[in-house]
Amino acid sequence: MPQAYEIIDHTYDVIIVGAGGAGLRATMGMAAAGLKTACISKVFPTRSHTVAAQGGVGAALGNMAKDRWQWHMYDTVKGSDWLGDQDAIEYMCRHAVPSVLELEHFGVPFSRTAEGKIFQRPFGGHMSNFGEAPVARACAAADRTGHAILHTLYQQSLKHKAEFFIEFFALDMIIDEDGVCRGVVAWNLDDGTIHRFRGHMTVIATGGYGRAYASCTLAHICTGDGNGMTARAGLPLQDHEFVQFHPTGIHGVGCLISEGARGEGAYLTNSEGERFMERYAPSAKDLASRDVVSRGMTIEIHEGRGVGPDKDHLLLHLEHLSEDIFTEHLPGITETAKVFAGIDATREPIPVLPTVHYTMGGIPTNLHGEALRPTESDADAVAPGLMAVGECACASVHGANRLGTNSLLDIIVFGRAAAIRAAELIDSESPHRSLPKDSADMALSRLDRLRHASGSLKTAEIRRAMQRDMQSHAAVFRDEKVLAEGCETIDKVAANIADIGIGDRSMIWNSDLVEALELENLMACARAAMFSAEARKESRGAHAREDYPDRDDDNWMKHTLAWIGDDGKVTLTYRPVHTWTLTDEVDYIEPQARVY
Ligand SMILES: Cc1cc2nc3c(=O)[nH]c(=O)nc-3n(C[C@H](O)[C@H](O)[C@H](O)COP(=O)(O)OP(=O)(O)OC[C@H]3O[C@@H](n4cnc5c(N)ncnc54)[C@H](O)[C@@H]3O)c2cc1C
Repeated sequence: MPQAYEIIDHTYDVIIVGAGGAGLRATMGMAAAGLKTACISKVFPTRSHTVAAQGGVGAALGNMAKDRWQWHMYDTVKGSDWLGDQDAIEYMCRHAVPSVLELEHFGVPFSRTAEGKIFQRPFGGHMSNFGEAPVARACAAADRTGHAILHTLYQQSLKHKAEFFIEFFALDMIIDEDGVCRGVVAWNLDDGTIHRFRGHMTVIATGGYGRAYASCTLAHICTGDGNGMTARAGLPLQDHEFVQFHPTGIHGVGCLISEGARGEGAYLTNSEGERFMERYAPSAKDLASRDVVSRGMTIEIHEGRGVGPDKDHLLLHLEHLSEDIFTEHLPGITETAKVFAGIDATREPIPVLPTVHYTMGGIPTNLHGEALRPTESDADAVAPGLMAVGECACASVHGANRLGTNSLLDIIVFGRAAAIRAAELIDSESPHRSLPKDSADMALSRLDRLRHASGSLKTAEIRRAMQRDMQSHAAVFRDEKVLAEGCETIDKVAANIADIGIGDRSMIWNSDLVEALELENLMACARAAMFSAEARKESRGAHAREDYPDRDDDNWMKHTLAWIGDDGKVTLTYRPVHTWTLTDEVDYIEPQARVY
């Protein structure tokens, strides 16, 4: 039994947890449809990680050269290494064009071509005519596309009178005796009060869990909170073994240099000055898919062709690009290179290294954003009252490897789809059933346990151990020995949470309790990733096993579901990949060898 808290109750039609691009697109759409909408965010909405997205949002507008959404679909299926659900990919690529035009009409200040159309640049893995040659498909607002989108969606949400609960930390979902999600319990970080949000539908949009790793391009707030809540609610996490390493994080600091730079003509070299990507991807070269470039770079470093005193990184060259490109298309990354690497990118190359950037897995959903609770008889059974959108969700459009620009696309297309679905499902007039008596107990017991924890280990120590374990055991290349060791270590690190001690209580303000809550969420994500990776005996997309170098469609073309028990034990089951399309305008794309 948790200590007695005064609980402040709120009732809405829909509760959205997260105010990144996915959460805000859903919030805006639901509020515009006349639903009484609350959006909860642990940070101010425009500080969500979406704000950092640089390169662009993918859509086959064809503004620079001929393009078709069917080519985009083909590239996405191929990029996913045939783990993506093709019905969902068809939905995303088809709706990309109207969704981006809609953003333009909402007010996103896209860069322009000379004719005044939305400017587009090439990005890795995006090709014309079913894989022939790179195509300019990334719709960009300079190199600050996420910033432009996020601010616009926040303004639109306010216009439609959505209500915001800012700096509220969602602790756990409320699941009733029938297994229906009825809302969430949240903690107001400003004054410490506890709030219970009740809604006909709860939408989780809490972003990725890249912070489970020691070196990543993601913000410190990307701690997989929604995935942690989902696991504690007894629902599975899908495909967590697929973690994307972006080829060009700045060496030593992790900040991102967008693939947009290579889209504009930047290229990589090794210690011998070779443009080594020609070896690994003869046709797409530096613009091959991210997993391919990251593997090529890792091999170069392993074989002793890295640069620097420790031969542990490579160089990204932009010096040859024209001044116009720097000022008009890449102002942000020029600044990032200066601030974080002390490099003037117009004169010298930037030291770079593959760095964790995106988590393909998450809460399984269908293409309407509805969360799934797969059963033996129905792999697509819906978890009632719950939706998930954005990086925390797995629709699954990215499969085993996401293409650049497809995440900003994912968040706007599926944020929109969730809003459409919620408007269909919810009758604003229908009464809310009363909540179970113990509806807040799980959340508050957890808060109490950590609040009063007086063990000997610091939150930061346990987090560092987890991040090191993930970085050394679930990296670009993996094998059985390393992964089995990783499973053992992550279990031990997770067990240390029982001996956590929270903060220095003499301080007027410290954030240790929040970080401990986040650590538990990250730990659930990390365990799901490590155990799922150990079990998958093949190489596919971002999951590259040295002991199983080939893709094995006969045995492994299936989604992993990781269920985490109360004792922390991970149980794995699998569900089939969707091998059908929605319309007969496109055929199912049969698995092929993936070469760039
Ligand atoms: C540096 C960088 C550059 C990128 N560039 C591109 C690009 O050019 N193109 C592209 O397609 N993709 C890009 N990506 C990926 C893409 O930006 C993200 O995947 C996407 O923006 C995630 O959006 P989201 O809405 O799911 O989550 P986020 O934007 O991460 O938002 C998560 C929200 O959840 C809230 N939240 C989390 N936990 C809680 C909690 N417990 N309680 C309350 N609220 C909570 C947060 O406050 C936040 O509002 C980039 C990513 C990075 C890191």
